[in-house]
Amino acid sequence: MFEKILIANRGEIALRIHRACREMGIKTVAVHSTADAEAMHVRLADESVCIGPPNPKESYLNIPALISAAEITDADAVHPGYGFLSENARFAEIVEAHNIAFIGPTADHIRLMGDKIAAKQAMRELGVPVVPGIEGGMEDMDEARRAAAEIGYPVLAKAAAGGGGRGMKVIHDESQLEELLTQARNEAMHAFGDDTMYLEKFLPSPRHIEVQVFGDGKGNAIHLGERDCSLQRRHQKVLEEAPSPALNSEERSSIGERAAKAIAGINYRGAGTIEFLYQDGEFFFIEMNTRLQVEHPVTEAITRLDLVREQIRVASGAPLSLEQSEVTFSGHAVECRINAENHKTFRPTPGTVTDYHPPGGLGVRVDSGLYQGYRVPPYYDSLIAKLVVHGRTRNECLMRLRRCLEEFAIGGIDTTIPLHMALVDDPEFIDGDYTIHWLEQNLDRLVGD
Ligand code: ADP
Repeated sequence: MFEKILIANRGEIALRIHRACREMGIKTVAVHSTADAEAMHVRLADESVCIGPPNPKESYLNIPALISAAEITDADAVHPGYGFLSENARFAEIVEAHNIAFIGPTADHIRLMGDKIAAKQAMRELGVPVVPGIEGGMEDMDEARRAAAEIGYPVLAKAAAGGGGRGMKVIHDESQLEELLTQARNEAMHAFGDDTMYLEKFLPSPRHIEVQVFGDGKGNAIHLGERDCSLQRRHQKVLEEAPSPALNSEERSSIGERAAKAIAGINYRGAGTIEFLYQDGEFFFIEMNTRLQVEHPVTEAITRLDLVREQIRVASGAPLSLEQSEVTFSGHAVECRINAENHKTFRPTPGTVTDYHPPGGLGVRVDSGLYQGYRVPPYYDSLIAKLVVHGRTRNECLMRLRRCLEEFAIGGIDTTIPLHMALVDDPEFIDGDYTIHWLEQNLDRLVGD
């Protein structure tokens, strides 16, 4: 087992990883930019190294600085968290070339799934249902026109290197094809330096349901059920729940087993998430994330497993700590992503937290690096806390969530807590009756004047 892990991240996820390490008797090294010198994960870690100025390119994305930090502290593994370098195959390769373990899949698997066209083709071959579409030949307008007509409008143009919803355009008919495809291509080139595009059938009212999988790198894999992440604004998840209110237990085990079989088939190592759109009883693969997800705690709540611990075990060569038949699901969990943003305009609200009182009690977990006097820096993602609530039933969970949101005090800056309070009181949300478009369609009603 590792003795010391360098955490190549910041904020709540750095703290989350530190906690798992501590409980496993593993020492931690925090890295931080000059803007994060006072951060909680830096205070709690055994050692810390300043790796550069606030701009992430010069700190959290600075591979040479991270490698030197690992070398001077003698860390034997690196956990990348999510975001930043977590899905950068080159980083995984460089870490391993320095005889340091990368807590994640192999560079080849990161690369395969990072190319969304290759990922879709691989999943199709592994027997996973994918969104109907055409993956090549978009450079030629005549071919693109033929492909779109064959799929049937509306179609969605997507970037092979895509992420965060960028380089994506819905095209309703042929008259829009050339202009929107070009726009999407330019956006993709700007965001990813790669303008390879593909076309997919645009599904009008799906849910976003993703399956948590784990592989040991030796052909064994399990699934830990699904998360429903349909509540999104601008393709960013706002609230997630597990299990999905839309699935029955046969659908759950059937999609879970197919997902686990697929990753066992490629000898996948570590945690992964297979994302699907679900509509009219059918699943369609959209992409695989080769890292820990922000919303992993809802899975932890219903399975009572520590996913970071499992990642660390597998990366050190240990087997998965349980088999599929030992995985049990209990109750219902919801995660609210609390952002330092105004809940109506969604403008970031960096600044000093003057008051902080997180909720507590049975079935309540708050993952956050906040404390009274902490200054939320303006340079990074605005996620400042995750409130994760568990109950024996969905109803118990929602009642508890309402109580927790009322209790949660974060003073000095605006947060998105009022949006979550509105959601938890909304009859359609309470009924579990929503698709990926529901939140945007209902935002005015939820948070308008
Ligand atoms: P990214 O990697 O940019 O996040 P995804 O492929 O994961 O892109 O898609 C992001 C979101 O876009 C999905 O959660 C869903 O809301 C929407 N989406 C993606 N593909 C489709 C599709 N074929 N039809 C309808 N909506 C889609």
